[in-house]
Amino acid sequence: MTWRQETQLKSILQNERGYVIHSGGGRSKFALVYPNLYKIGMSNLGIHIIYELLNNRADTSCERFFLPEPKSLGQIERAKTPLLSLETQTPLFKFPLIGFAVSFEPDYFNLLKILELGRIKLLSKERKDLDPIVIAGGPCATFNPEPLSLFVDAFVIGEGEAILPPLLDTICAAKAEGLSRTQTLQKLSTVAGVYVPSVPRQTKRQWLKNLDSHPAHTVIVTDDTELNMYLIETARGCGRHCRFCMAGYCFRRPRNRSLEVLKLEVESAKHFGKKIGLMGAAISDYPWINELCQAIRNEGLPMSVASFRADSVTAELVEALVSSGLKTLTIAPEAGSARMRAVINKGIEEEHVFRAVELGLAAGVRNFRLYFMIGLPFETLEDVEAIVTLSNRLKEYMQNHSGSGRLTLSVNPFIPKPFTPFQWAPMADKRYIEEALKMLRVGLKGKNIELITESPRESIVQAVLARGDSRIGEVLLKAHQNGGIKTFRQVLKELEIDVGYYLYRQRDKDEALPWDLLDQGFTKEYLYSEYERAQNLQKTLPCFDSCKRCGVCS
Ligand code: SF4
Ligand code: SF4
Repeated sequence: MTWRQETQLKSILQNERGYVIHSGGGRSKFALVYPNLYKIGMSNLGIHIIYELLNNRADTSCERFFLPEPKSLGQIERAKTPLLSLETQTPLFKFPLIGFAVSFEPDYFNLLKILELGRIKLLSKERKDLDPIVIAGGPCATFNPEPLSLFVDAFVIGEGEAILPPLLDTICAAKAEGLSRTQTLQKLSTVAGVYVPSVPRQTKRQWLKNLDSHPAHTVIVTDDTELNMYLIETARGCGRHCRFCMAGYCFRRPRNRSLEVLKLEVESAKHFGKKIGLMGAAISDYPWINELCQAIRNEGLPMSVASFRADSVTAELVEALVSSGLKTLTIAPEAGSARMRAVINKGIEEEHVFRAVELGLAAGVRNFRLYFMIGLPFETLEDVEAIVTLSNRLKEYMQNHSGSGRLTLSVNPFIPKPFTPFQWAPMADKRYIEEALKMLRVGLKGKNIELITESPRESIVQAVLARGDSRIGEVLLKAHQNGGIKTFRQVLKELEIDVGYYLYRQRDKDEALPWDLLDQGFTKEYLYSEYERAQNLQKTLPCFDSCKRCGVCS
């Protein structure tokens, strides 16, 4: 009985503006899947961008799928009905092309669950000519597709706007020629930016050269999202070279949209009356941020930002955020000591953090949140102690200047991600992380500072998935069969997979890494030189025009 699922999907559609249903016309169906709940997926700008891109093609009709809410999931499983699309309530298995947008490692489990609910064979090698082709893109696919390579037929390495058009053209041509599945995948493996695990080849990441050619904003408006905002992307990539940051490396080079294009987007947003959410790696680095804030305020719209850097935040930006209802200002020093901030090349000093707090207090903000990592390469417990010292001094400063307000520390264990200079470094083990957390708890006790931490167990699962190879795919499969993410660590043990091999080893410079078949535009030598610079506390300057340092812009 699919009526219950159909009714639920139709009621979601009733609350949306901007969705597209193409009737007939020989378009090929594309299932765009976000492997998490609707409200999370609809807060992801990538889903809107790809949805519009695909539906604007004359030959494609794109429909969305999400992980059902737990209650609906139970109903679907009990009734044994297939997962249906949002737009036309069509079963997933009826779509010849299925594209997952994967942003977070824990969503790998949801990807398998959705394939199962959609009645798609989980293993790529078991799919036959009439089965759908399953592709995956997004940040996780771009930095390490290997853990998903048993389940995904082709990966999009880089930015969808640059890769999906030739990918779809190739599939259409293959269909017209009557090629088999194997032949189609072979053809796909020759498309720039497409990595096909069954035909493994060096694959070069593709990226959009001119952002103005593809304005990126909310396409489907609904109140039922996590953020409930109209999202506008101001910039892509980041040229700050923080050595821990996968996004900074995998989305190079930094690019800005022109102010003229953004002003037009703000004007279109006005009709929806929603808060504007500016998206980008470091919003305060946008060269015309003050003018953009002014344009948004001139339209009478509130605004919010995905993130900003303490060293480039301006009074205008803080005031615009506060007048939009901002109650807590978030700052990411990432490390407590100047030494560790030099290791990670964060480029933020204590005076920037105090200045950002000062700007916030002057604009009327009372609450502040600080992001830190522990277990960074070359870190010692003295550096952890420096987090305590800095936080206590900030709290004192807040008390002296506003008398009240909450200071929250969000502290996460560091994961050495692929394609960063720290990819060779071991992850700090559980014992060190627990000791560091204890030190923070003791040092902050009685200081009225809230401490929020990610559990070391969750970080370990995330890290194995981020750094894994295709053997981790087998663990994913077995964990999926045994009940999902909660069984992952147990399955690792059962399959006698040594977590230490993946996480706690120092890699040799020349060791082959699971993600070596991907080419992000820079060499391993370049990355390794950054690793050495980290050890020597050497500063690396941000990207600049005419720079050819890393190879991405040559
Ligand atoms: S400023 Fe640093 S942490 Fe932030 S996006 Fe850029 S490189 Fe990453
Ligand atoms: S070549 Fe220079 S400007 Fe271009 S991404 Fe690399 S470091 Fe940045």
